[in-house]
Amino acid sequence: MEQGLVLVINCGSSSIKFALVDPSQNDFLISGLAERLATNNDEGLLHWQQNGQKNTQALAVSTHHAALATLLPKVQAIAGSRLIGVGHRVVHGGEHFSSAQIITPAVLHAIRITVQLAPLHNPANLLGIEAAQTLFPDLAHVAVFDTAFHQTLPEHAYRYALPEMLYRDYGVRRYGFHGTSHQYVSQHAAEMTGLAVRNSCWLTAHLGNGCSTAAIVNGESRDTSMGMTPLEGLVMGTRSGDVDPNLHGYLARTLGWNLEKIDQLLNHESGLLGLSGLTNDMRTLEQARLNGHTGATLAIEVFCYRLAKSLAALSCALPQLDGMVFTGGIGENSALVREKTIAHLHLLNLYINPAANAACVHGKAGAIQAEGSVRILVVPTDEEGQIARDTATVLNKY
Ligand code: ADP
Repeated sequence: MEQGLVLVINCGSSSIKFALVDPSQNDFLISGLAERLATNNDEGLLHWQQNGQKNTQALAVSTHHAALATLLPKVQAIAGSRLIGVGHRVVHGGEHFSSAQIITPAVLHAIRITVQLAPLHNPANLLGIEAAQTLFPDLAHVAVFDTAFHQTLPEHAYRYALPEMLYRDYGVRRYGFHGTSHQYVSQHAAEMTGLAVRNSCWLTAHLGNGCSTAAIVNGESRDTSMGMTPLEGLVMGTRSGDVDPNLHGYLARTLGWNLEKIDQLLNHESGLLGLSGLTNDMRTLEQARLNGHTGATLAIEVFCYRLAKSLAALSCALPQLDGMVFTGGIGENSALVREKTIAHLHLLNLYINPAANAACVHGKAGAIQAEGSVRILVVPTDEEGQIARDTATVLNKY
């Protein structure tokens, strides 16, 4: 019998990633990206990949709705009657959701009231849900939350040292993100090493444009580096990660900056881009470092040191360490970042094997630790595949 297919939609503020997935085979029948959306111009582009072939089409109108309306007939032509549902990535589920949910009016309402906690992400996710529901009114739509996996954090890990009223009445606490990825790679790491997910402990580092670490005990997240929003924690592409909270007051007093300008600085002008003065792209930074660029060199050093510091801190949440996992575009490809990070972690008995480290790039999974070291694994993440499986599971069709 042919298996059902799930359309996965990941709507960002100016882009939509999509994939039509057979969750039983983890087969991607078509996948792609609509970019430069909502830019008030006609520069929107739709890229897609099908049967190993890459295609690009200009969009007549650069909106999320127009992009979905252009790509959905392509999806429908391939899926026919096999499409069983649409899985939507939703960044912030607050405390409302600890698992994926069929999108009902009540779920939609909860996502809407969480917008205040994720003003950069949830509005775009809502746009995608509403457009897809209009275009596919008869299909089940499922929300898969980035925060859900971290709902198992103990209170001592998720509370800030702030008056209780701010938590109770305004939801000010740590939530954590990238949950789909941390869950997937920790499960996969257990499979790769013959350990039971329910009986193993991992430190995971998801390093893409956004970056976060997690401590996972017996399949449950116990701590993570991101907080109330995805700004807390590590150095990222354009996000600062942790800074002294007094920075806001200092910038306001000395430079007269308002909150909007400070938000823009910390979210879009900092991180690898801010430190290097060059780019947020790790590939370009590595090249520039080789050419002696001091900003690029410093950005990589700070990135790796802060990452190591976060991993060491999260080790407090583990009763034992069965392994450390690198994933995301940087984690899967940058042997330099892995080597520099692990060089700060010898106290955790983590040591790298340079040849194995160099070999694990471009989607190749593997163990990269030296003999006698605790395991260090590279595990390519599969967020779209995992969203498709979660969606099919919720629909009882997987
Ligand atoms: P997103 O969070 O947008 O999904 P990705 O997971 O694709 O991002 O990661 C993007 C990052 O991965 C960029 O900084 C990019 O430079 C980096 N990257 C991709 N390939 C390589 C590579 N071969 N070497 C170093 N960094 C890489």
